[in-house]
Amino acid sequence: MIVSIASGKGGTGKTTVALLLAAARPGATVVDCDVEEPNCHLFLQPGRGEERQVTVMRPSLNTELCDGCGRCAEVCLFNALAITGKKVLLFDELCHGCGGCILACPPKAVSEAAKPIGVVRAGAATRNSAGTKLIDGLLDVGSPTASPLIKAMKETLAAQGDIIVDCPPGTACSMVAAVADSDFCLLVTEPTPFGLHDLGLAAGVIKLLGIPAGVVINKSDGGAWDDAVADWCAQEGIPILGRIPHSEAFAHEYAEGRISPEYLADARAIWGKLGREGDCR
Ligand code: SF4
Ligand code: SF4
Repeated sequence: MIVSIASGKGGTGKTTVALLLAAARPGATVVDCDVEEPNCHLFLQPGRGEERQVTVMRPSLNTELCDGCGRCAEVCLFNALAITGKKVLLFDELCHGCGGCILACPPKAVSEAAKPIGVVRAGAATRNSAGTKLIDGLLDVGSPTASPLIKAMKETLAAQGDIIVDCPPGTACSMVAAVADSDFCLLVTEPTPFGLHDLGLAAGVIKLLGIPAGVVINKSDGGAWDDAVADWCAQEGIPILGRIPHSEAFAHEYAEGRISPEYLADARAIWGKLGREGDCR
């Protein structure tokens, strides 16, 4: 089963839930898709494993062949090319690597070039839940798009066992790339007005993608906003699969890179409910 863990904003406890689920399910694989700031490795401390560079296609220009006709800029749907005088400018951060400019260039002045965007790493955890396999990625600083790296990480997965995908925060393309192909999405939220607002955004994206979803309330304190989240979930027909109680002791241990076994029973209960709610594809 592939379970993705998402939330509308950072800091709600996605990684906490992902690591608790991993600790409660020996043999599972964690995929940390927060490639701009991966942090699962800090807790799992994987031993030395595989590492490979990921590249994307980007156009490369031969200025000697270019006559400045502007055809490439005309076909670029993403405005990544501009002509100034007779000179072509490429705005790398806008390029989607579609290859249209290569096909469109009459004198064949544009060719395909592989550009490194980051690395994908894989190894076995040595801490907190020894034996858990961790796959994570590290996006090169300044690289404009995380989605190709996330797709490459998911391609390295052996199609076996339970897979826990820790998604990047927000609801942008990288989150969509991370949740794609999930059997179930766990939406982690906090019982606060901001938490509920961002839960609504994330739930909207997951609904559009047609992925069954449930909610885990992190830092649950049984207060009025717990009730507000529960009311909202009831209204939307989204089940609450777990509540991780607010605990200062847990927060201290987490800050020291330890995952308290105190909530393993809650995590096992979430797995149990996932088995019933999940619409395995
Ligand atoms: S289509 Fe080719 S020749 Fe024309 S401006 Fe673009 S790169 Fe230059
Ligand atoms: S590869 Fe596609 S997106 Fe990139 S510059 Fe060429 S036409 Fe534009």
